[in-house]
Amino acid sequence: MNRYQTIPKHLRYTINDFNRQFPDDAACLEHLMQQRFPGNVTCCEKCQQERKHYRINGRPVYSCDHCGTQISPMAGTIFEHSSTSLRLWYYAMYLMASTRCGISAKQIQRETGVTYKTAWRMFRQIRSLLSEPDMQLEGSAVEMDETYYGGRAKGRSGRPMRGDKQKTPVIGIVERSTKHKVGRVKAMATPDVSADRVMGIVQEHILPKSTVFTDEFLIYDRLGARVKEHRRINHSSKVYVMGDVHTNTIEGFWSLVKRGIGGVYHQVSQKYLQSYLDEYSFRYNRRDYGNLIFTEILKRVSSQAALPAAKDRGMTPSQEVPF
Ligand SMILES: [Zn+2]
Repeated sequence: MNRYQTIPKHLRYTINDFNRQFPDDAACLEHLMQQRFPGNVTCCEKCQQERKHYRINGRPVYSCDHCGTQISPMAGTIFEHSSTSLRLWYYAMYLMASTRCGISAKQIQRETGVTYKTAWRMFRQIRSLLSEPDMQLEGSAVEMDETYYGGRAKGRSGRPMRGDKQKTPVIGIVERSTKHKVGRVKAMATPDVSADRVMGIVQEHILPKSTVFTDEFLIYDRLGARVKEHRRINHSSKVYVMGDVHTNTIEGFWSLVKRGIGGVYHQVSQKYLQSYLDEYSFRYNRRDYGNLIFTEILKRVSSQAALPAAKDRGMTPSQEVPF
């Protein structure tokens, strides 16, 4: 990693930029309104047609300029039932976007004074926006590998022993970057690691014209039949790179996630593992965006607002160990 790396000017977005753009709740609300309903124009339920809406002073709602019917830009978003200030939500998204290794609920609790539970819930909600189920990998060269989380925490977790139920397998595929495009990753927590599981994932996410690089593990045995070329590196005989035959890219991603989860979140329960993988993948897949990842998260708030609001299902923050 280049420690002298700086973000090009047009991709920079500092905390000063944040404070300027979002000085208070009103600025955040107006931003949300503009993102969801550009020009403050949206269909009024009562008028049954497109109407301009105006902000009502002192309340987080806008009203139709014709009939006065009110709408809330927060309705249907992750902010809907929250009593936390909108600016704090925006700040939490800013923090999540601007770290490379993740950000703990404890950190935002310390910085802003919200309770740990509130902070934890905010991050969980934000993370829920970041999954990319429909993303199709298009790289002509992709690496595929599996790893395991949980169970005995010591060292790099290797393939679990038979019956080691504590470990959750994760299968990952990453495109190798080209001159013109950064490679993207797809990481999936799976109930098991089997040849059938692997083949299903290959079919869904890897184009048949791809060359796929894996190690020698037998779950990848049938892969050659589905893709243009399957090339394997023999890790068990301590060979890690042979020309372009290696899985270093996906292993780099695993180590980023493990450093993050191990160092920032300390422990992640099986139930939430996928959402953490989504968070790391979301940033990894936009690592050429500089600090504009924040803008990308903001867009998600609006683009996912039409979906039924993410309801709090009474989860508790106990799974993430505070530190
Ligand atoms: Zn109206």
